[in-house]
Formats: sequence, C-alpha cells, structure tokens
Amino acid sequence: MSSPAFSTLPLSPAQLANLTQMGYEAMTPIQAESLPAILEGRDLIAQAKTGSGKTAAFGLGVLHRLNPARFSIQALVICPTRELAEQVAIELRRLARAHGNVKVLTLTGGASARPQIESLAHGAHIIVGTPGRILDLLDRQILDLSGVHTLVLDEADRMVDMGFFPDVVDIVNACPVKRQTLLFSATYPATIRDDADRFLNDPVRVTVDTQHTEVQIEQHFFEVDDEYRYQATAQLLGHYRPESALAFCNTKAQCAQLTDYLRAQGFSALALHGDKDQRDRDDVLMQFSNQSCNVLVATDVAARGLDIPLLGAVINVELARDPQVHVHRIGRTGRVNENGLALSLCAPQEKHVAEKIEAYQGMPLRWSKLSALKRTSDHAVQAPMATLLVLGGKKAKLRPGDLLGALTGEGGVDPSKIGKINVTEQVSYVALDRKIAHATVRRLGMLTVKGKNQRIKLL
Ligand code: AMP
Repeated sequence: MSSPAFSTLPLSPAQLANLTQMGYEAMTPIQAESLPAILEGRDLIAQAKTGSGKTAAFGLGVLHRLNPARFSIQALVICPTRELAEQVAIELRRLARAHGNVKVLTLTGGASARPQIESLAHGAHIIVGTPGRILDLLDRQILDLSGVHTLVLDEADRMVDMGFFPDVVDIVNACPVKRQTLLFSATYPATIRDDADRFLNDPVRVTVDTQHTEVQIEQHFFEVDDEYRYQATAQLLGHYRPESALAFCNTKAQCAQLTDYLRAQGFSALALHGDKDQRDRDDVLMQFSNQSCNVLVATDVAARGLDIPLLGAVINVELARDPQVHVHRIGRTGRVNENGLALSLCAPQEKHVAEKIEAYQGMPLRWSKLSALKRTSDHAVQAPMATLLVLGGKKAKLRPGDLLGALTGEGGVDPSKIGKINVTEQVSYVALDRKIAHATVRRLGMLTVKGKNQRIKLL
C-alpha cells in the first residue's frame, strides 16, 4: 500500500515541519482516507481503532479550523476514559505546536473537579473530556459549548459499551447545530448507527481494516494444563523477552495471583485494577510507561481505555470467551508500522473457545508447544528502571527541570541514571536506573527542590 505524504494536504508549512519533527513521515491508512474530507469540513464516520493514527487524523482537522486568537472553546473531543482523554490531549498539544498558543484542557472524572474548573475559568480552545464530567459541568453552567465548531466522538462504541451514550447525546445537544462532527469507532453497531444518523450531516464513511492480519501480529497458541498457567506465562515471558507485555486474565483473583507469582520469579510485574482509585492506577501506568514495570497484568475491564504505544507482546493467560474481545486484546500489540506478538494459553476445556476464535478470524490458529521453548523461568526479565515517587507536583509548582536539577545537583545522582520524569497535579514520578534506585532513596531520605523538602519513596 502506498502511503501518501502529508504535503499532499492543504496544511501550513509550519504544521508540515511539525509533523516531520514528530517523526510522522507518511500518513497512516486512516489518515490518508479521512484527512482530505476532514480538512474540507465534511462530517465523518471512521471505523478505526487505537493505534491506527486516528488521533492525529481528527487532531489535524480540529486545528485546521481553530482560530488561536479567539479565546473560546472551539472544539470538543469526547472520550470514553480518562486515560484516553489524557493521551488525546498530549497528541493535540504536540500537533498544536504549529499553531501558536493553543490551550487544550482535559475535563475528566476520577479526579477532583475544582482544578479543572479553575483552569476552565482561564479559558481554553479545545476541551478533551469524558462524558460524565463534561455533562456535570454543563449542568452546573460552568461549561459553555456554544462556540464549538468541531465535535469529535472518539471510540464511540466503547462509550456505548460503558453506558455513556445517553450522556453523549445530551452533550451533543448542547453544541451548536452548525458544526463539523467526526465520529470514530472500532466497530459500528446498530445502537450507534441510529444516533449517528441524527448527529452527523451527510457524513463521509471511512473504514480501515480493523482486524489485524497474521502479517502484523504473530499469533501463537499453546496448550497448557489449567494448573500450570502461571508457570507457562513466566516461561513465555522468559523465552520471548518482550520489552513490555500486557497479560490478560479473566478474573481479578487470577490477576492478583499471577502478579504475585511473576514477582516472586523476579519479573517486574504489576496488576492493573479497574476498581482501585485513580492514584493507584496512575502509579501503575506511570511505572509501565517509564520502564519500571515490564509486565502489566489486567482484566479486560481494567485495561479499558488504556493506550500504551508499542506493546511488545500480549499474553492471554486464559482465552477471552468472546472472539471479538480476543481480537481487541491482541490489537494492542503491533501498532503503526510495528509487528506485534500475541501469545495465548489454552487449557483442554477451553478448546471450544479457541475454535470460535479460529472461525471468527477465518484462518487456522498456529499451535506451538511450550516444551519447545526454553524450559526454565530463570530467565526472568527485570525492568531496567524503578520509580521514585515525589510527594509534590504541579500544585507545588514543581517542573521536570526542577526535579532533574535537585537530583543531579545536591542529590548527586549521575544524570545518565535518570529516565523519564512525569509531573502530575499532586505528585511526580522519576524513573531511576534500578541498580541505583534503592541506595539513592535510602541515602537521600528527602529531596530538596527549590529550597523546599519534598518527601520521596520508591514505588
Ligand atoms: P492513535 O491511533 O491515534 O492512538 O495513534 C497511535 C500512535 O501512532 C501514536 O503513538 C501516534 O503518535 C502514532 N502516529 C500517528 N500518526 C502517525 C504517522 N503518520 N506516522 C507515524 N506515527 C504516527
């Protein structure tokens, strides 16, 4: 397939340069198919999933019509989850670098509304949010959507699955009738079809292949006895040594047990719980994204809305009962231009589930033998980094540079041992080389940043 260059689009030279700087050399299929219509101002229904480059597709559309000099909300992006909203906002901010001072604000649940309301009072051009919080702020008449000219519904099918669609309908009704509406969805069920017909005006329809083929994702199925699933998972991780992996379990109890097992074997594994509070979830995701954890263990519910680029492997510790869920799970590996690896364990009593997956995919499953892999789980792979938690964040006026300065200056840490630094509202995360992390935290006890002592601990 040929990949057209962004320069074939009516984008500004500044935006073309920005895209090059972002490493976007050519359009992804969804971008190539949707951007001409989006930039013309047409409404759009696009069937595309996370990893396809859909965010940049609608992001470039949103920015194309945006007037940075007019300080009012001109675009609204509705997402199913907080994590997705945060990811979308990050991508929009990167794309907006070509447009001068554009303010992108996230309005999402799971965090206190007050800071969001304060930021809103300072004005914003683009709002990215989740349905509940947006509707809440609308009801309280804090949010004014009367100037919105571009409305994006991202992962609309997931919003339906999660029961958000009535809220979405109310929000759409609070936007001006004259607007551009872009709807993105991995699937296009009848429930969305009816509402979409009302929301969208003569939309262009675009579909890119949502089912990954064997070429993009290398899939292997392994037969395993039920009681050896955890050992088998460790064996797969030790053999394939993916840089990062997401291991799917069907129950929370299984997640907890597997995580304990893998940690005892020396893997840097963490469980992602859907029902833990947002801070715990953030702690886990931050450690995964900064290379302090290389195996994330999750249920389908907990993994909802997770957007992790370049996942080395997906492991199905137990098969998903529904073939569509299986395809969704494995679609998390092998993102844009990257091959993925999906490893599935199947006990004899699950064979009928494997057969359903085979029928759904329309191609024979590739069965491999665990006994053909390296036998031992002595090959545990530890993540290269460990995470230092600093109990102060943006609220305490901390910036990444301040933390870097404090650690390398008075803290005496070699800069080459410091990885990603993330500063959130209340706390900050610093990735440190695992080899020096413990000793460093013990030695420092506290971190003095800009003359103030900040409490620290190792996650
Ligand atoms: P998305 O489907 O929007 O979640 O995008 C998946 C990933 O692809 C993100 O990490 C983007 O930064 C990246 N991406 C989007 N468009 C391009 C492109 N044209 N070339 C390379 N990477 C891209």
